[in-house]
Amino acid sequence: MAEGHFPRLALIGIGLIGSSIALAARRAGATDHIAIHSRTPETLHRAENLGLGDSYHADLADAVRDADCVILCVPVGISGAIAKAIADTLKPGAIVTDVGSVKASVVAQMTPHLPATAHFVPGHPVAGTENSGPDAGFAELFDNRWCILTPFPETDAGAVAQLAAFWRRLGAYVESMTPEHHDLVLAITSHVPHLIAYNIVGTAADLETVSQSEVMKFSAGGFRDFTRIAASDPTMWRDIFLHNREAVLEMLARFSEDLSALQRLIRYGEGDKLFDLFTRTRAIRNGIIEAGQETAAADFGRPHGGDEDQGG
Ligand code: NAP
Repeated sequence: MAEGHFPRLALIGIGLIGSSIALAARRAGATDHIAIHSRTPETLHRAENLGLGDSYHADLADAVRDADCVILCVPVGISGAIAKAIADTLKPGAIVTDVGSVKASVVAQMTPHLPATAHFVPGHPVAGTENSGPDAGFAELFDNRWCILTPFPETDAGAVAQLAAFWRRLGAYVESMTPEHHDLVLAITSHVPHLIAYNIVGTAADLETVSQSEVMKFSAGGFRDFTRIAASDPTMWRDIFLHNREAVLEMLARFSEDLSALQRLIRYGEGDKLFDLFTRTRAIRNGIIEAGQETAAADFGRPHGGDEDQGG
């Protein structure tokens, strides 16, 4: 096999991430054949109409037969059942991976089912949008984003290198770490921020003293930026919180303590301390921009016209 090239690639699930992998792999010439499976006929037909693959399979086993690499692109809670369903059909030497936003739980769910003849290399491309489904994908999604692999120490080094090279072909940088470390890092960089967004949007929705129309009308004050991530797929995020429970609760406890400290600063008028914190946090955002992980354009690069934006 050429470096980072899989003659036959099977995608199980063809939502945002699956369809983006299909488009990016095609763009990169990283495969000769993409076999696609999705749970519902609607999604499978939509993928076919969009021309995302070369073959479309209602049956899971048909999709993975003869595949050199199988990528699970489904909500993390279903990983174990899918591993069980494909185990007997996997080609010896096939690489099995996934894109799930949680790693330790996926490893625990899938490992018992997979045959020793397959190379299981869990993965997570840290790239996404709030949209879902096969129409949401785009070939550039992984460009200059990180893909984290969490291989086991005993996993065949050649298989890990081949999967890493595949992700690099798709435009990503690749880093390896343990599943547990991945889950802690993602708890603070992704999972807790999503929980905060879901919470603040829920709080605003339940307010009685401020009308819904006022919440919408004055949302450019900051609220709307939370609503973007609070619009993310409910199934996917339910599964993430249920399957990264420990790390999320640990980070949430730290967050709550820090929030209480902030509350005290406001209560006792400690402006200097607030100013110091806000100065530190501004530097963190600048660091993210310098790392190429965010646009430097003001207001996330939104086009501005007239009085549309009302600022902070
Ligand atoms: P998505 O757009 O909602 O697509 C989900 C896919 O999984 C669809 O093909 C769907 O099939 C299938 N599916 C849903 N529930 C299923 C079930 N119970 N059994 C079998 N198949 C099921 O999701 P996505 O955003 O691509 O996310 C897929 C995975 O990528 C998740 O594990 C997520 O954690 C991870 N991820 C997401 C992002 C992101 O920003 N979205 C970023 C990185 C990683 P049908 O439509 O046919 O039901």
